Amino acid sequence: MPSSPVASLLAAKSDFQSALLGWYRAHARALPWRDSPSPYKTVVSEFMLQQTQVKTVLPYFARWLETFPDFAALAAAPEARVLKLWEGLGYYSRARNLHKLAQAVAALPELPRTPDAWRKLPGVGPYTAAAITSISFNAPAACVDGNVVRILSRLTADATPFRDSATAAKAFTPLANDLLTTSAAGDHNQAMMELGATVCFRQKPLCLTCPVRAFCAAGQRGDPENYPRLAPKQIEQRAVTRIWCERNRALLLHRAAADARRLANLHELPAAEHLGLNVEHFRAADLLATKRRGITRFQITESIYSARPPRTKLPPNLVWIPLAQLDEITLSGPHRRWITELLALRK
Ligand code: SF4
Repeated sequence: MPSSPVASLLAAKSDFQSALLGWYRAHARALPWRDSPSPYKTVVSEFMLQQTQVKTVLPYFARWLETFPDFAALAAAPEARVLKLWEGLGYYSRARNLHKLAQAVAALPELPRTPDAWRKLPGVGPYTAAAITSISFNAPAACVDGNVVRILSRLTADATPFRDSATAAKAFTPLANDLLTTSAAGDHNQAMMELGATVCFRQKPLCLTCPVRAFCAAGQRGDPENYPRLAPKQIEQRAVTRIWCERNRALLLHRAAADARRLANLHELPAAEHLGLNVEHFRAADLLATKRRGITRFQITESIYSARPPRTKLPPNLVWIPLAQLDEITLSGPHRRWITELLALRK
C-alpha cells in the first residue's frame, strides 16, 4: 500500500490524468490563444499572462494580433510602437523581451522545438519554455508556476515551508513532470493552469466540484487553504513626490532612460528630485492628489503637487508634451490614469 500522499497520487497517476484531461476538454474556457493555436499566439499569450489576469490580457491580445500578426511583423516594428501597444499592461520588460525574442526567432531558419532551445531566447524562463513547447510541439515538459504549486501542494498536503514561490516551483517540478500526461503534454499543462485559475483558488477553492478531489489529500481533509506554506511577502512602503507642471497647454514629463531597468523610454510625471526641488517647501494647498500603486514588493504612495515651470534649462529627459499629444506618447499605466483624471477634474 502506498504510504504517503505523493506515493498514493503516483500510484493513481493514470486515473488522475484521465480525470484532469476529461474535465479540461469538457470545460476549458474559450480563449483566443486556444482558438486555432499557433506558436506565435502561445508565445504572446504566455508573455502577457505573466503576473496578469486573463480578463486584463484579452483586449491587449486582440489588438496585438491585429497589429503584429506574426513573429516577422513584430520583429520589424519599432520599439516605440511595441511599447505603445503594451501601455497599461505593466512590467514593460516583457514587451521589450517579446520584441527581442521575435527578432531572434525571425533570424532563425526554423522555430526551436525544445524547452532548452527556447530558454536561450530573451525573457523565456522554465515556465514559459515548457508552456510554449508543450502546447506547440507536445514537448514532455511540465509547467510549474504559482497555480501549479498550489494544486500540487494540496494534492499531496505538503507542509514544507518555502521561502518564495520560485523556490516552491523548483521543488515541485519533479512531481509535476512525474504526473505529466506525456502523450498530451500541452493539454495537460493547460488543464493544470485552468484548474488553478477556475477551481483551485487561493482562497475558498471549489473542492466539492473539483475533478481531481478523489486524488487530493488536502481537499479530502478539508484544509486546502493551509497549502502551500509560503513565507509572507515582505512589502516595503515608499513615498514619491510628483510634480504637475503646465505651460502653454503642455505638461512637463520625465522620460526614463532607454537603459533604465524599469519603464525604459516610458513617460511619467517628474519626481521632485528630477527638477531639483526640495519636498519640504511644498504647500498643502498645492497638493492635487495622492495616489497608490504596487510594483513588485513595493507599495508606493505618490503625492502630486502643482508647481511653477522651472526657469532653468531642462535636462533632455524632461520634456514638454502638448496636452493634445498626450495620446501619442507612452505613459506608464498608473500615470496615464492619474493624468487623465486630473485633466478631467478641471473641465
Ligand atoms: Fe484544489 Fe480542492 Fe481540487 Fe484539491 S480538491 S485540487 S484543494 S480544488
